[in-house]
Amino acid sequence: MGMFDSLYVNCPKCKKQLEFQSKSGECLLSVYTKESLTPQVAIGMNGDIVKCKSCGNSFKLECEIPQKVVKCKSCGNSFKLECEIPQKVKIKLVDVTNRRVK
Ligand SMILES: [Zn+2]
Repeated sequence: MGMFDSLYVNCPKCKKQLEFQSKSGECLLSVYTKESLTPQVAIGMNGDIVKCKSCGNSFKLECEIPQKVVKCKSCGNSFKLECEIPQKVKIKLVDVTNRRVK
């Protein structure tokens, strides 16, 4: 079994716990909640779909990952950084139960 980090959120329908897994963070089997989720971990689970074992509904995780925009001093172009930003990630669970998903 591989290593991954977990995010636990409550099912919007039945309030039971849903687990999303990410392999993009440190993957030390850390457990996150929506309050402690970091951008690195969120990137690896953004768009994942999990089926609730309790009510059978499926939910897609949508993360709003904070990005830091920096401007190059010589060319004036802007770049977005997606790493090491100590900001909170906003997450949203979208009900995809009735959509065709694999
Ligand atoms: Zn549920």
